[in-house]
Amino acid sequence: MLFSLLVGKSRGISLVSQSKHFAIIIIIIIIIIIIIIIMIIIVTIVFVFVIIIVIVIIIIITIIINNMQMAAEASIPEASKLYCPYPKCSTLMVADERGPNMHAECPACHRMLCLWCRTPWHQGQTCGEAKVYPGSAKGKKETKRLCFLALINTGLFCGLALQTV
Ligand SMILES: [Zn+2]
Ligand SMILES: [Zn+2]
Repeated sequence: MLFSLLVGKSRGISLVSQSKHFAIIIIIIIIIIIIIIIMIIIVTIVFVFVIIIVIVIIIIITIIINNMQMAAEASIPEASKLYCPYPKCSTLMVADERGPNMHAECPACHRMLCLWCRTPWHQGQTCGEAKVYPGSAKGKKETKRLCFLALINTGLFCGLALQTV
């Protein structure tokens, strides 16, 4: 009887201590999970903060570069200013001499363009025949297209002088 009581008591004690251990382990696990969650939140906030700072720096640099480009572009006389008319190029060029039926190669994409019409070179046609010079109806559309392409490709607003042949 005494023996069995002792056994029972000792069993009860061991059960209590086991459940206490179990509870401590669960608390430790919960604390670890909470710490991990807090760290993930902190890392995420820092990450987002860094990304925002990088984006702001990129935007500021872009604006500075664009301002420098615009200042450089503004110093070029309108009459000698040229944008490559081909999509995905729009390289800004300066033609020392421009006149009807003069063509040249784009230094960037190496395709032929008409210096007078500011369009792809109209092979076998004079500027008057091609009727795409900026003063013509087609040419006005072409100038608009050219400026739109230049804006997309270079971020610059182009002010190209209209002319007639
Ligand atoms: Zn080009
Ligand atoms: Zn032409």
